[in-house]
Amino acid sequence: MVYTVHNSGYNNIFLTILTLGNVASIFLNKNNYDLGSFAMKHESPEIRERLEHLKKALQNAGIKMTPQRMEVFREVARSTEHPDAEAIFKKVRHKLPSISLDTVYRNLWLLIDLGMVTDLGPPGDRARFDGNIKPHHHFVCSKCGAVRDFYNRDFDNLEIPNDVKKFGAVQRTVVEFRGLCSRCYGK
Ligand SMILES: [Zn+2]
Ligand SMILES: [Zn+2]
Repeated sequence: MVYTVHNSGYNNIFLTILTLGNVASIFLNKNNYDLGSFAMKHESPEIRERLEHLKKALQNAGIKMTPQRMEVFREVARSTEHPDAEAIFKKVRHKLPSISLDTVYRNLWLLIDLGMVTDLGPPGDRARFDGNIKPHHHFVCSKCGAVRDFYNRDFDNLEIPNDVKKFGAVQRTVVEFRGLCSRCYGK
């Protein structure tokens, strides 16, 4: 299924859903932009849970849910790749052709401020983004840069060494294993 969103520039958004041999138009009010209005059935329960969680976080912070915000978040949330802003931009542009890289960045920083997304690596152009907000850890391939999530309670609760405490306040602990992923290994 392919869907495109056209922002009319006024108070409304036309959402055109193209299915095989079937074209339907739905008229949505921008102020009531609703996650449920998008065809969400193809999303996994985990992604839907993340989107619902985001919706509540935005509401609690008094921030409006906009198509840009939702699509940027949806791309980060559904990706297991820990993409950079450029990769998110390329994906979102399919649905929102008028979106700029700048808007993608602005929305990513907002989502980071809200604690819905975390950034990996040095901030700036090369930063990568993670929509998995559950405590988790990473396996990083030093050849292709693939980053994979894994969960481990013991690592979540690691005791913070005094040597680390003197640097400042620790907000979260991420254990990173580095090596070669199964695709790169043996190449
Ligand atoms: Zn690799
Ligand atoms: Zn991750």
